[in-house]
Amino acid sequence: MTAISDASSAPTIAAGALGELPSDRTYDADVIVVGAGPSGSAAAYWLATAGVDVLLLEKTTFPREKVCGDGLTPRGTRALVDMGIDVSEEAGWLHNKGLRVIGGGLRLELNWPELASFPDYGLVRPRADLDHLLVQQAVQAGARLHEQTSVTAPILDAQGRVVGVTAKAGAGAGEKTEHSYRAPVVLACDGVSGRFALALGMQRNDKRPMGVAVRRYYSSPRTNDDYLESWLELWDGPPGADDARLLPGYGWIFGMGDGSVNAGLGVLNSSAGFQKTNYRTLLTTWLDNTPEEWGLREENALCPTQGAGLPMGFNRTPHYRNGVLLVGDSGGSVNPFNGEGIPYAMESGKFAAEAVVQALARPEGAGRERALAGYPAAMAAEWGAYYRLGGVFVKLIGNPAVMRACTRHGLPHPRLMKFVLKLLANLTDPHDGDASDRIITALTKVTPALR
Ligand SMILES: Cc1cc2nc3c(=O)[nH]c(=O)nc-3n(C[C@H](O)[C@H](O)[C@H](O)COP(=O)(O)OP(=O)(O)OC[C@H]3O[C@@H](n4cnc5c(N)ncnc54)[C@H](O)[C@@H]3O)c2cc1C
Repeated sequence: MTAISDASSAPTIAAGALGELPSDRTYDADVIVVGAGPSGSAAAYWLATAGVDVLLLEKTTFPREKVCGDGLTPRGTRALVDMGIDVSEEAGWLHNKGLRVIGGGLRLELNWPELASFPDYGLVRPRADLDHLLVQQAVQAGARLHEQTSVTAPILDAQGRVVGVTAKAGAGAGEKTEHSYRAPVVLACDGVSGRFALALGMQRNDKRPMGVAVRRYYSSPRTNDDYLESWLELWDGPPGADDARLLPGYGWIFGMGDGSVNAGLGVLNSSAGFQKTNYRTLLTTWLDNTPEEWGLREENALCPTQGAGLPMGFNRTPHYRNGVLLVGDSGGSVNPFNGEGIPYAMESGKFAAEAVVQALARPEGAGRERALAGYPAAMAAEWGAYYRLGGVFVKLIGNPAVMRACTRHGLPHPRLMKFVLKLLANLTDPHDGDASDRIITALTKVTPALR
């Protein structure tokens, strides 16, 4: 097996081994899911709920940390409710009623819209908890979870179709054992690295949007906040001061409700600063210029600054090929308008499960393939046009002059900003909505879908 080269230092997934499957196909599960983040756990939950035998392979052990902003819009709330998760405050969730937008010298609080399709509140919860709850829900529905099991390669049959995976299981280096698991369908839910897809030669499309984001926790009196706070401009001095310079990127400060805040920033690949900036320094520079009393200073930091990529706008496709479905970050499903990834990971997990359930009810062959092709079709129908518009948006706001003009001229108009919030957070009622819903629906209808 040849190792796939990848810039990251994390272990790579090797390219597939040909013809390893015996001719009398025996499978270890109906479906193998690689990775138990929000996409993998949601897919496993929906598959198991439909009675499918799912093997969920995860390289870590829960609860485990994941670098994230920990914020959810009502789209995330809906996805959790859909999976039967109790999202009440009594169950430990922090509710928020909207987005506070800061930029152009203004500060605007916008409540989440009142819609039939979505609840009117968002949530905050550390990923260590959120991902643990999701995987527990999948296991309760019947998924078989193997933790500390790192998938190392796809197994291919003689036709080049993926029919399983090899994996290393165990904790310490000396204790790892090699395994192979076989299934007629594999879901790659291994996150932004996309290593499973890479091992099959499925590269990222660098022309589509991509971001990098970093975050750090601070103890802060701003820990209780009814709004998610988003900064459209970051400055290296007091905002508006004559000698203050505009920095690349967009920031957030989310109260965690436990005495801490999650503060972070993201930079898009359309920005001149992308990959030419020290993101950790950028975060500190910005936060050093926020009010002293918020406490966002080195001495109150609770952890080092950590970061990861934000794969957006379907930047890895096709979403289905040769027995493998790319789900969540692995298929670049982060919303390019606002960098939100968790709900899209969970929803794409559901779309994948729906296609696989139908596929498994058909014999292997053309009929099953048609059902599996339903997954990329569903992704394109749901977000393809919206993400194409998102790609244009990312290019436009990569130009600081355009961004400044939008901030200066947009923010002073609350009605316009309500519309912008619906567009950016992808929160509309497709049927029976108001005028702004109808405009957004019409826009996505006339835009050709990305695939
Ligand atoms: C700094 C930052 C802030 C963010 N803030 C937000 C936010 O506030 N709200 C939001 O909605 N989104 C946010 N996102 C995006 C969000 O984190 C992702 O979109 C989301 O986690 C994608 O879920 P996933 O299941 O596709 O992948 P992941 O959550 O990355 O899960 C992948 C899983 O696969 C496992 N895995 C990987 N390789 C293997 C292997 N070889 N074998 C077995 N298991 C494997 C991993 O351990 C992991 O558990 C943020 C991202 C970053 C980087």
